[in-house]
Amino acid sequence: LYPDPDFDLNKFNECVAERRAVLDHQNKDIAEALDLLREYWSLCHQTVTDERRALAFARAAAAVKCLPFKVTNPRQLKGIKDLGDGHALRVATQIVESGHSQEVEEKRNDKKFLSFQIFCKVFGVGPSIAKKWYAMGLRTAEDVKKRFDQLDVSKDNMISYGVAFYDDLNRPLQLVEAENTYKHITALAQRILPSVVTSMNGGFRRGKSSGHDLDVLFSYPEREHNEHGLIAAVRDELDKKGLVVWSRYSRADGPRGVEIDSSPLPAGSAKDHLLVIMIILKYPLDGHFDQLERRDFSTEKNLGLFQLADSARPWRAIRVDLVGSTTTQYPYAQIGWTGNKQYNRCLRQYAKDAFNYSLSSTGLYDKRQHRWLPAQTERDVFDHLKLSYREPWERNF
Ligand code: ATP
Ligand code: MN
Ligand code: MN
Repeated sequence: LYPDPDFDLNKFNECVAERRAVLDHQNKDIAEALDLLREYWSLCHQTVTDERRALAFARAAAAVKCLPFKVTNPRQLKGIKDLGDGHALRVATQIVESGHSQEVEEKRNDKKFLSFQIFCKVFGVGPSIAKKWYAMGLRTAEDVKKRFDQLDVSKDNMISYGVAFYDDLNRPLQLVEAENTYKHITALAQRILPSVVTSMNGGFRRGKSSGHDLDVLFSYPEREHNEHGLIAAVRDELDKKGLVVWSRYSRADGPRGVEIDSSPLPAGSAKDHLLVIMIILKYPLDGHFDQLERRDFSTEKNLGLFQLADSARPWRAIRVDLVGSTTTQYPYAQIGWTGNKQYNRCLRQYAKDAFNYSLSSTGLYDKRQHRWLPAQTERDVFDHLKLSYREPWERNF
């Protein structure tokens, strides 16, 4: 049945978190169709059932990306955990049989979906705002720009910057641009705190050659972090050089738990950037919500729009996430901020189901023994979970 004689369906189904998905997997057409349905339902959902649908398509797409052979016969799709025996299997089968799915093409060209896609490409906009704009009769990015004054978002500066820099922020950031910016930021940080360790996470660490942003993770001992507030200091240094277009800093201090920091931050020098302190959620997270849809507890974080030198004009705006972690959190933050998102969902679900552990970007919590499990490296985290180590480029679920 399978072109790969070593393929063992039982083994493939035994543990989803053991699967590996490289970027250059063998079933792009099927995965693309399933990912489109995932995107459709995650943007256009009306009900909780629709949201669950989006998650089910995300799992189905991931399953297909993990298959170590190219599917040529629909029978090869039978019995795959997460692809299921319903809607997703039907679509996948159509693609294998005819290279085409009517439903996917209808959704792909759905007018409402196309508008939602455009709106959600505005930095700071998600499905609920997209829905509002659509109801107001907006359809295109031009509509948003033209009618911006009526949109009641002038106070929400994140979105107004998203609109103002719409074209810049939807131009993919290339690996070499990301690497140069990363080096620049790392050098700045090391001048402030020589012992700091940094890594370039997100899609680039998983092997992508372009992405929508740069994710930089910082690690420092707890004590030094408290002294420096390193992420804020790095942001301020960039600001002094005039490189900050917009930024939003958040910080949660103290023991893990509900923490609200309302202390004022030093004002930056740029006229047009904004600082907001945010509230970080309770930890450990519980309940039946999708944990990744919630904000993770992390010590320090700065979402920013920075200036990048551009060949055609003085600069263009790019998205950069600066994330702080203490040495004890670092391996967990590495995994969390490497992603991808679906891989993290899968790991977290597995940790919960198999061990009643709560996994996040700040640690692994044993809910039975009421203790945090220490880790020095990402491999330690996989060991705690009794999983084989997976390289970052195998985490493209
Ligand atoms: P791209 O190349 O398009 O940026 P990406 O995989 O890097 O893709 P990001 O949105 O930058 O996507 O996220 C990087 C990783 O960080 C993801 O795996 C995501 O799960 C995680 N992440 C993003 N935002 C948060 C957040 N607020 N809290 C915790 N983790 C997050
Ligand atoms: Mn990213
Ligand atoms: Mn990011």
